[in-house]
Amino acid sequence: MKQINHVIGGKEVATSSGRSSPVYNPATGETTALVGLATVDEVDQAVAAAKAAFESWRATSLAKRTAILFRFRELVDRHQNDIAAQLTAEHGKVLSDSLGEVKRGIENIEYATGLAEHLKGSFSQEASTGVDVYSIRQPLGVVVGITPFNFPSMVPMWMFPNAIAAGNTFILKPSEKDPSVNMLAADLLAQAGLPDGVFNIVQGDKVAVDRLLEHPDIAAVSFVGSTPIAKYVYMAGTNGGKRVQALGGAKNHMVVLPDADIGLAADAAVSAGYGSAGERCMAISVVVAVGSSADPLVAAIEERIPGLVVGAGTDDASQMGPLITKEHRDRVASFIEKAPDEGATVVVDGRKQTFSGDGFFLAPSLIDNVSPGMACYDQEIFGPVLSVVRVETYDEALKLISDNAYGNGTAIFTRDGGAARRFQIDVDAGMVGINVPVPVPVGYYSFGGWGDSLFGSSHAYGPEGINFYTKAKVITSRWPDPSTSTIDLGFPQNV
Ligand code: NAD
Repeated sequence: MKQINHVIGGKEVATSSGRSSPVYNPATGETTALVGLATVDEVDQAVAAAKAAFESWRATSLAKRTAILFRFRELVDRHQNDIAAQLTAEHGKVLSDSLGEVKRGIENIEYATGLAEHLKGSFSQEASTGVDVYSIRQPLGVVVGITPFNFPSMVPMWMFPNAIAAGNTFILKPSEKDPSVNMLAADLLAQAGLPDGVFNIVQGDKVAVDRLLEHPDIAAVSFVGSTPIAKYVYMAGTNGGKRVQALGGAKNHMVVLPDADIGLAADAAVSAGYGSAGERCMAISVVVAVGSSADPLVAAIEERIPGLVVGAGTDDASQMGPLITKEHRDRVASFIEKAPDEGATVVVDGRKQTFSGDGFFLAPSLIDNVSPGMACYDQEIFGPVLSVVRVETYDEALKLISDNAYGNGTAIFTRDGGAARRFQIDVDAGMVGINVPVPVPVGYYSFGGWGDSLFGSSHAYGPEGINFYTKAKVITSRWPDPSTSTIDLGFPQNV
C-alpha cells in the first residue's frame, strides 16, 4: 500500500506515530494509500526546519524569489495534466473540473510573481523639515496553512505562493482525505529552486493542528474548512497570539427575479449546484425563486437533471463525480430522507439512481418548498442537493439571505440593472455574482465571506493575502547637518 509522508526540510519523513488514515479512490471505493498522521514531535521538527530556513529566505532578493515563482508557475502549467489526474484519483471530481482547479491555482502563483510590486512601501520626502518618512512590509516568520479536502490543490495555492513570495517560510497541513497532490507541489517547488525548509508538509489530524496552533514559533495561521473547525482554529490560534484568518462553510443563495431569463437561470443553478458534486464552498445550495419565477424555474431545473451524466471522474463523458467518502455520501442522502417530514417536496430524489461498484456516488437531487427551520436549509449539506425557497418579493429574498448565519457568496439573476445594483449594495455576503452563479474572485482580488463563513478580518489571497503575510513598519529618518544640530527636549512636532 502506498504511504504518504511528511516533507520536512526538503526530505520525505515517515511518521513514527503508528497512526494513519485511509485515502480512497471515491469512484471505486478502494483504499489507494495510507497517510501517516504526525506526532507532536514531527510537527516540532517541521517548525524547526521552517524556522531555520527563514533567516536566509527573508534575505533572498526579490529578484531571486520572483525567478523561483516564475519557474514554479511554468512547472505547474507544464504538469497540469498530472496534477489534475492526481486530484481526480483522490477527490473524485471530473478531470475537466480538476484542470479548472489547477488553472485557478496558477492564477494565485501568477499574482505572487508580482511580489516586487506588492511589497513596495511608500516614501514621503521632507515630511517634516529635514525628515523623511517611509514604510516597508516585512515577513512574519513561519506561517501555516490548514486546508480542506474539496480543493486540495487550489486552496493551498491561495496561501503558500503569496506567503513565500513575502519572505515567510510555510508549513502546509493538508486534508488527510486527499493529500497526494501537494507532494507533487513540493517536488515542483524544489525543481523551481526553492531552498529546503521554505515549504514543508505535515500530514495529520487534530493532533497536528493543535500543536501548530499552540507552537510559539508560528506567527500566523491560514485555515479553510468547515465553520465549527474554523471557529475553533480562530479562537485557539488568536489565544496563542497568532494572526489567524479562518474561512468556514457556506450556504450560498441564488436569487432569481421574475424578469430573469429562466432558461439561463436554470442552467446556472444546475451548473453551480451540482458541479463538483456540490462539494464547493461557493456552490449554490439554495435557489430563492421570487414570485412568478418559481414554477417555471423548478420545472426547468427538473427537466435538466436527467441529462446530467454521473460517473467516474476519469471518464470523459462524466459531468459529476462521486462524493469524497461513503460517510459523507450517506450524510448528504440523510437530508433528502428527512425533507418530506419537514414539509418540503422532493422533486428529484438522487438516491433512486443506482450505480454499479462501491463508489461513493449520489445523483443530483432537487427539493422544493424549503424554508428556514428545515435541516436541508439550516445546515451546510455540501453535496449535490439544490433546495428551492419560494418568496413573494425581492425584500423577502434579501431578508432570507441576511438572516442566514453564513455569508460566503450569493448571486442574483435578473435583467434589471437597477435591482442588481441595489442587491450588490444591500446583500450581506462577501462575494456577489450578477448573473454569475459562482463568483470566485480572480487572483488579484481577495476571497472571503462574511458572518460564519470567515473568522478574522483578512480575506484570502490577492492584496489582502499579501497584507496578511506581512507586517508593516514605518521609519522616520533624519540625517542632521552637524552644523545645525541642537538639543530639544520638547515632543517632536511636525514643522
Ligand atoms: P474540515 O473542517 O473537516 O477540515 C478542514 C481541515 O481541518 C483539514 O485539514 C482537517 O484535517 C482539519 N480538521 C478537521 N477536524 C479537525 C479538528 N477537530 N481539529 C483540528 N483540525 C481539524 O473541512 P473539510 O470537510 O475538509 O472541507 C469542507 C468544508 O470546507 C466545507 O464546510 C466547506 O464549505 C469548507 N470550505 C470553505 C471554503 C471557503 O473559502 N470559505 C473553501 C473550501 C471549503
